[in-house]
Amino acid sequence: MCGIFGISNHKDAARMTYLGLYALQHRGEESAGIVTYNGKKIRSYKAMGLVGDVFDETVMKSLTGNIAIGHVRYSTTGSSNPKNIQPFLVNHNKGHIAIAHNGNLTNTYKLRNQMESSGSIFQTTMDSEIIVHLLAKASAKSIKESVVWALSQLEGAYSLALMMDTYLIGARDPYGWRPLCLGRIGDSYVLASETCALDLIQAQYVRDIEPGEIVFINKDGVESIKPFPKTRHAFCIFEYIYFARPDSNIFGNNVYNTRKRLGQQLAREFPMDCDLVMPIPDSGNYAALGFSQESKIPFEAGMIRNHYIGRTFIQPSQFIRDFRVRIKLNPIKDILKNKRIVIIEDSIVRGTTSRARVKSLREIGVREIHMCVSCPPLRFPCFYGIDFPTKKELIASKHTVEWIRDFIGLNSLSYLSKEGMLTSMPLSKEEFCTACFDGHYPIKPCNKMSKRMLEGR
Ligand code: SF4
Repeated sequence: MCGIFGISNHKDAARMTYLGLYALQHRGEESAGIVTYNGKKIRSYKAMGLVGDVFDETVMKSLTGNIAIGHVRYSTTGSSNPKNIQPFLVNHNKGHIAIAHNGNLTNTYKLRNQMESSGSIFQTTMDSEIIVHLLAKASAKSIKESVVWALSQLEGAYSLALMMDTYLIGARDPYGWRPLCLGRIGDSYVLASETCALDLIQAQYVRDIEPGEIVFINKDGVESIKPFPKTRHAFCIFEYIYFARPDSNIFGNNVYNTRKRLGQQLAREFPMDCDLVMPIPDSGNYAALGFSQESKIPFEAGMIRNHYIGRTFIQPSQFIRDFRVRIKLNPIKDILKNKRIVIIEDSIVRGTTSRARVKSLREIGVREIHMCVSCPPLRFPCFYGIDFPTKKELIASKHTVEWIRDFIGLNSLSYLSKEGMLTSMPLSKEEFCTACFDGHYPIKPCNKMSKRMLEGR
């Protein structure tokens, strides 16, 4: 749950990075940071909070240099702590290394234990710091060889923007869990988690960084290598369902269109006799539109979102989550009273959010409430960078659909089939990770934390 951005060879590198992070804010609302390099000095500023709050004019002026990387974060591994804010930066005898990482490594404990036994001292609890230690430890003479060696030690999910000397380096793990694209603006190259960041700075999309690819970018251009053995792909399907912005293209295809197809497929699988279909805004909007078009049930925006409040399930504490549900969405009584409605929801994690929303709809006199979810039940935790809770906290891991329907207070609850989800995707099913739905982990979680999450402790 992070957004990364990098730019090289640009006189306003920090400002462009600020804008890129602004576009990627939905990928992490907890903290933000930018590191720049002007050929002599490296500068860094990072703090807890939203991009617009973290950086002001004075800070931006201090971030000099024509190369920059930036990061927005919500904690997945490593606690919610100012020390863990990225980009993570170290200066050592080979120069500086700065890293912005999206994804989770699955061999964190093994690598960390090995390094601590040989004398490494860690400053943070982030798995990303391990990558920096590996880069610093690499015995290879060149930056390129060091990067290849360090990344060859990793298992799990990583999309990276690195800054080493005058290089901006982009890398994506061989499975390709998290998106990363390459853009161009004038003579500058840009790395970004999603294309919406390129759009905002008016950069042109060049291509995706491929799974297993490393790109080294400097004033001479882009050099690409693919040093790792090919493996199956495991693009995170949840990026299409919920996480990425609908105006982005990820894994080479548009998110908006994919969400609409999920809604159309839902309507084919679950014909409804209702007065209107409405989304849970905003992420349910596009599936609801598809559902309405396919079913011919009129679409209405039955709830209005307060846009000054962040997403709900990624808020760190239970108290804030429940509070935010209540102030975030307001149902429109005049549209919904006495109606039989179908709500399109993108996913159900704990069920508490949906339950609070349904309660507010009952209170204004909605006659029937049916919910269709544009993905199958989420039954397993994610080890590759999405902050799903432990197995125990995922409502569908221990309860039947009927139990969940009753808990939320619905007349009916229907989940899209796994087959229906996969046929709605723009790529073939073999390209995707679907582990949170079926428990088939492309790389078996092998560290202590994974065990804890699976056992629900
Ligand atoms: S387990 Fe689910 S959320 Fe995690 S990478 Fe796989 S598809 Fe995405």
